[in-house]
Amino acid sequence: MIIFGKGQNMIYFDNAATTAPIEQVKKVVAEAMEDFGNPSSLHGLGLTAQQKVSYARKIISGALGVTDQELFFTSGATESNNTAIFGAANSLGKRKPKIVVSSVEHPSVAEPCSVLEERGFEVVRVHPRENEHGERVFFAEDFVREVDDRTCLVTMMLCNNETGAVLPVAEVFRRVKKLHPDTLTHCDAVQAFMKLPVKAKKLNADMISVSGHKVHALKGIGGLYVRKGVHLPSLVFGGGQERGFRSGTESVPLIAAFGAAVEILSTNLDERYKHVSELSSYLRSQIAEAHPNILFNSPDGASPYVNSIAVKGLRSEVLLHYLEKREIYVSSGSACSKGKKSSVLGEFGVPDELADSTLRISFSYMNQVNEVDTLLAALDDAGRELVSK
Ligand code: PMP
Repeated sequence: MIIFGKGQNMIYFDNAATTAPIEQVKKVVAEAMEDFGNPSSLHGLGLTAQQKVSYARKIISGALGVTDQELFFTSGATESNNTAIFGAANSLGKRKPKIVVSSVEHPSVAEPCSVLEERGFEVVRVHPRENEHGERVFFAEDFVREVDDRTCLVTMMLCNNETGAVLPVAEVFRRVKKLHPDTLTHCDAVQAFMKLPVKAKKLNADMISVSGHKVHALKGIGGLYVRKGVHLPSLVFGGGQERGFRSGTESVPLIAAFGAAVEILSTNLDERYKHVSELSSYLRSQIAEAHPNILFNSPDGASPYVNSIAVKGLRSEVLLHYLEKREIYVSSGSACSKGKKSSVLGEFGVPDELADSTLRISFSYMNQVNEVDTLLAALDDAGRELVSK
C-alpha cells in the first residue's frame, strides 16, 4: 500500500528508523494546533489542551498495562532512556555503583552507560553467545549472574533495532527482581511497542521507554513508564509539569498524535503482526530459494518487523543509493549510526565483510508482498549492474 511520500511508487522499508504518520493522526495534530491552549492555563482553552494530554496518557498507559500516573511524556526515547539510566544512577548509585546492560543497545542507552563508567560506575556489558544451532543469542543466566547487591540497574532492549533479535527481558527481570528486589529494571521497548506485546507487569520492568515516531505518530515525543513506588530524581526542573518529574510546557499536538496512533494500533496488533510475519517469511523463503547471493542475518525468533540481510560482494551504501533511485528506501545497518560502522552486527556474529554488505529491511503493516518482490528484483539487477567492491 503506497499511502504517502514523494513519489507515487515509493516503497518504504525503513520503518525501524521512523514510520509514516497515520492519516487520522495528522488530523488529530491539526485539531490540537487549533486548540492551542497551554494545559496549565486555568481557562477553557487550557482545559481542552489538558484533556487531550490526559486522554493520550490514558491510552498509552493502558497499552503498557500501567496506570496513567505511571506514564511521563518526554521528547523521545532518547530522553526516556537517559532519564531512566541517570535517574537510577542518581538515586541508588552511591550505594550501588554498578550497571548491567546488553552489548547491543541503542546509543541512547549505551552512551549514558559509558558516561557513568567514566564517572566511576562499573558497567558490565553482557554479550550474546552461540546456541546449539550456532546462532549468537542472549542467555538470561548471563545477565542474572552479573547482578549483585551493588547493582543499581539492569537495562536491556526488548527488540534490537538492527537485527530484530528479541532479548529475554521478562526472564532476566523476573529473576533479578527475585534475587535483588532493590535493583531497578529498565527496558528500551522502542522497536517492540505496538508490534510485540509490551506489558510492564509481564516484563517485570520498573521502567520502560517508548517513542512516538516509531509507531506512526510524530518525532519529538516519547514516554517513560516509571513504576509506582520507584522514586526517580528528575533531570529537568522548572514549572513542575508532568507531576514535577519533567518540567516544560507539554507539546499537546505531539502528545495527542502519540495517543491517537497508539489507540488506532491497539485495535489490530495481532492482525498487523500476522501480516508483517507473512512479509518477513516471504522475504526469507524467497532469499533461500532464489537468491544465493543474499543472506538473512536476523536470527530465528527475531521480530518480523526488522529484517537484516546481506548482499554478498556489494557494499550496503552503494546498494542503498541504487535502491533509492528506484524509490525503494532501506537502511544500511542502523539509521542512527549514519554510516558509522555498527558493532551490533558483529555482536550477533555477522562477519565484518558481510556487515559491510548489510541492509536493514524494516516493515510496517502498510507494506505489501509485491513490494518485497520489487525489492528482490532490484537487488538482482544491482548484482548484475554494479561493479563488485
Ligand atoms: N531505542 C531504540 C531501540 C531505537 O531504535 C531508537 C530510535 N532509533 C531510540 C531508542 C531513540 O528514540 P528517539 O528517536 O525517540 O529518541
